Amino acid sequence: MDIDTLRQKDSRTLWHPYSSTINAPPVFPVESANGVYIKLADGRELIDGMASWWCAIHGYNHPALNAAIESQLSRMAHVMFGGLTHAPAIRLAEQLVDVTPAPLQKVFFSDSGSVAVEVALKMAIQYWAARGRPDKQKMLSLRQAYHGDTLGAMAVCDPLTGMHTLFRQVLTSHYFADAPRTRFKGEWQDDDIRSLQILLEQHHAEIAALILEPIVQGAGGMWFYSAEYLRAARALCDKYEVLLIADEIATGFGRSGKLFACEHADISPDIMCVGKALTGGYLTLAATLTSNEVSDSIADEGRGVFMHGPTFMANPLACSVALASMDLLLAYDWQQKVEFIEAELLRGLDACRGMSKVVDVRVLGAIAVVELDKPVDMYSMPAEFVSRGVWLRPFGKLVYVMPPFIIKADELKKLCDAICSVVEETV
Ligand SMILES: *Cc1c(COP(=O)(O)O)cnc(C)c1O
Repeated sequence: MDIDTLRQKDSRTLWHPYSSTINAPPVFPVESANGVYIKLADGRELIDGMASWWCAIHGYNHPALNAAIESQLSRMAHVMFGGLTHAPAIRLAEQLVDVTPAPLQKVFFSDSGSVAVEVALKMAIQYWAARGRPDKQKMLSLRQAYHGDTLGAMAVCDPLTGMHTLFRQVLTSHYFADAPRTRFKGEWQDDDIRSLQILLEQHHAEIAALILEPIVQGAGGMWFYSAEYLRAARALCDKYEVLLIADEIATGFGRSGKLFACEHADISPDIMCVGKALTGGYLTLAATLTSNEVSDSIADEGRGVFMHGPTFMANPLACSVALASMDLLLAYDWQQKVEFIEAELLRGLDACRGMSKVVDVRVLGAIAVVELDKPVDMYSMPAEFVSRGVWLRPFGKLVYVMPPFIIKADELKKLCDAICSVVEETV
């Protein structure tokens, strides 16, 4: 099928993420993907700057990841997790407990990041109910937060970008503190935590948990904030008896320069969500981890069961490829690789800094953001990037990069050059 036919058929029947079915910007049919390259149906090869939304940390079509799936496939693709268990789930849970902060000892698998967030919110509520505090049912979140697209997760996303007005009858209203303003490694201002502190002071009796994305606010603004903020938030949660949920779905597995972004502040959450890069971008899988204190408290109360159980919980194919992905990651000096990417991105995007339409350029680990003074044109800009041989998908005023960790210096340069020239010439 030629590209125009694929596009026509696509637009006749498909919805894409956050898209309209009428006059949508063109989509690019993909034929295959290998390493850091995405091959389009017309034969063009693009350097992938998105890692398929934080996921494909080892690149595409990786022999070790392929082999893990193939070998598991010959045993079983799936069995229910109610009443049954299997080695891939057990080994992956042990591995996750090993690499995450020490207090996190129990693992609940689910099928996507949004569901992992729903699970975390329910855990927090059940924990306080079990501790005789059934009134603690509200959440505290941050402006500019993004935690997923299901209704429970949307309710803790930024009220504006989370479209709380449109869905007001079905979204629970929670508390929102101002977004952290102090930059990562910026000079800490005590009043940055005031808004959070005031909300906790006034409403802690009804708040079950503070949920936040540690250090990197992702889809809600791509903002990197001070580790001091995270430390102060942890201390306030302890003081006011509120659980801390760290949503590491975007940041987990090295992206920010630490294996988990919480490590920048040297804190442990009470509940942690991981997803995205967990399977190296191969299959959909997420996990919610918590402490024995939380899990055992829930178990002590009444019927003592945690009220969640997805059909595809702990899918063996997904668990196997996640294990293989973690093995790959831990087997090489990923931290040095991420530092190298950070340095190359800083250098490569420096040319953007002086441009009149560029408001800010920020880089942390293997993430770089060029913030513009107005929203980009989603009809023309992705096509401009494609014509320069790179794959980038900006949103709003943000052109951002988070490449697979295997990317090389010349490929990073090509990505950065494309950004600088597209921003200069076409915005
Ligand atoms: C992507 C993301 C989610 C939602 O994950 P899905 O797999 O898309 O449901 C939640 N939180 C953060 C921080 C994310 O980046």
